[in-house]
Amino acid sequence: MSAPCLFCKIAAKEIPAGIVYEDQDVVAFRDLNPQAPTHVLVIPKRHIGSLDDAEPADGALLGAMMLAVKKVASAAGLTGGHRVVTNNGPDGGQSVAHLHFHVLGGRPMAWPPG
Ligand code: AMP
Repeated sequence: MSAPCLFCKIAAKEIPAGIVYEDQDVVAFRDLNPQAPTHVLVIPKRHIGSLDDAEPADGALLGAMMLAVKKVASAAGLTGGHRVVTNNGPDGGQSVAHLHFHVLGGRPMAWPPG
């Protein structure tokens, strides 16, 4: 991917974000338009457009993202549980084309989602 996307710029600290967790592979930051008392996005630093774009070689990175979700939820004190969502592609409601996991918590979640 040649042109840096919005979340690549956040990962590179070129635009500000409320970063709550970071390691060598992953950044997590507060969603600009939170849908729950805790709403954090977990992204890979390396650009992957969506879950559909992930390759078998990305398995360790996807695992690192899931483990970062756990750390984010623990740091946020979400002891009662939380929801992890990735919107994939247009029908999935994805609006930013850089893979991200939404971590939502701090209130009971309804099902099914919209
Ligand atoms: P999605 O619709 O699943 O692609 O989710 C994209 C999310 O990114 C939305 O929940 C937006 O509120 C969030 N978002 C967009 N721009 C920013 C930003 N600059 N900082 C933090 N969150 C953002």
